[in-house]
Amino acid sequence: MRPDVWQLPLVGGHPAFDLVNTVEPRDGAPPHDHLSGPAALLGWTVAAGLIDGDEAGRAGQVWRDDPVAAEAGLAAVRDVRESLRLVMFALVPGGEAPADPVATGAALVRLHERWAGAAGRAALVLGGGDRPGVRLTYGTVPAMLIPDRVAEAALDVLRTADLTRVRRCPVADGGCDWLFLDHSRNGSRRWCSMADCGTSAKARRLTERRRAARTGA
Ligand SMILES: [Zn+2]
Repeated sequence: MRPDVWQLPLVGGHPAFDLVNTVEPRDGAPPHDHLSGPAALLGWTVAAGLIDGDEAGRAGQVWRDDPVAAEAGLAAVRDVRESLRLVMFALVPGGEAPADPVATGAALVRLHERWAGAAGRAALVLGGGDRPGVRLTYGTVPAMLIPDRVAEAALDVLRTADLTRVRRCPVADGGCDWLFLDHSRNGSRRWCSMADCGTSAKARRLTERRRAARTGA
């Protein structure tokens, strides 16, 4: 059974990669989109830490009052997700055909457009308390709060993450093709999650070794 969007593992090391991982599997069987509707997207955005509970309340109210705006927000998020996936798969090749440079360039243009729209709706606000300063806050328009935070996260990962540390859970060895940022000290993380794909791969290797031993004997 597929996990509820609330239980979807967040193993990408960055919310932008967790977003790309809301579709599975990427190969083989027809893909399942965990962001099946505006309500699922709202729940996932809170779970991923892109908005807090108060913001979810405001965005949810606006989306309930205006279902067209809700669907537009969901479409914007899916556009960012698919564009980011194309760019990342171009950077980190897997088993499939080489990335199409035209499609990758178009994806970068779309990401920039989504971010530019989000930046236009952002505001500079004075920080208070013990950390005085000025912050650029995305998501000041409730109907666009979620797509704007998602666009901010996508640009953040492209501009600030060490992209030599982007990995894909290896499909050829039984992994799930999810993306993750390898934060391990020596950069040797192989699986999206040891508890999930790593453990099942280990179990499979053990079975194969036992079978080989039996055949050998
Ligand atoms: Zn995996």
